[in-house]
Amino acid sequence: MRDVESGRHGIRAMAEDNNLLRALKPNDFELLLPNLGRAQHPAGDILYEPGDTVNYAYFPCGQALASYRVILADGRGVETALIGREGAIGGIVSQGRLPAYARALVQFEGQFLKINSSQLESLKKGSPTLNNLFARYADCLLAQVFQSTACNATHSIEQRAAKWMLAALDRIGSDEVSLTQEQLGGLLGVGRSYVSRVMRKLREDGVLKTRRGRVLVACRTELEARSCDCNALVRGHFEEVLRGVYPTNGNEDDKEARAAG
Ligand SMILES: [Zn+2]
Repeated sequence: MRDVESGRHGIRAMAEDNNLLRALKPNDFELLLPNLGRAQHPAGDILYEPGDTVNYAYFPCGQALASYRVILADGRGVETALIGREGAIGGIVSQGRLPAYARALVQFEGQFLKINSSQLESLKKGSPTLNNLFARYADCLLAQVFQSTACNATHSIEQRAAKWMLAALDRIGSDEVSLTQEQLGGLLGVGRSYVSRVMRKLREDGVLKTRRGRVLVACRTELEARSCDCNALVRGHFEEVLRGVYPTNGNEDDKEARAAG
């Protein structure tokens, strides 16, 4: 019994590191709590392949980060949304267990809280406020996907590379990110030669430094100047629909904003 209680305590603490769970009303969080389990996933883990039944919804905690990647017939993939501490992956708004459309891929390793889709479905039926919060999140996720569609079609590789880096940095709350050229190529849907050209230019211009698969942003202002405004637009929608849930760069700022708000 004590183990169960300390397990619950650990899950409660982990939930503090997911902004969407933190945004739940206390009663709704207590409904979810006994049904939440934890999972550790390394980078590269696949949570779902297209067509898989979505049995669980996953909430990335802290620096854990996943993405939805659409796989094309020739095997190439393009990222449509990056999901970190502001959100959830899979089944959060759909009715019951449905097949996944895109590949859900872990980008940065870390801890995830997960809940069975059927359990979540019945909890939502019993709580309009729980249902409402997750529906609002779904609206934000849709906005992200809409924006990615426009971004992938119109913005340059350099703009998109800067955008993904900023999106990742905001979510992990740091200026240093573990990102290989291969990962970045996967996010952008382009080959290695394009990625290394873009990275070389950003390095030569003093925007970032790279070292053994890690990228350190030396000048965030300049990286923002090189990025398209897609992140800013998505952030604006989050702020209107789910105020305070979209992460700001830096955990400390985040905590200060929480304490103030
Ligand atoms: Zn863009």
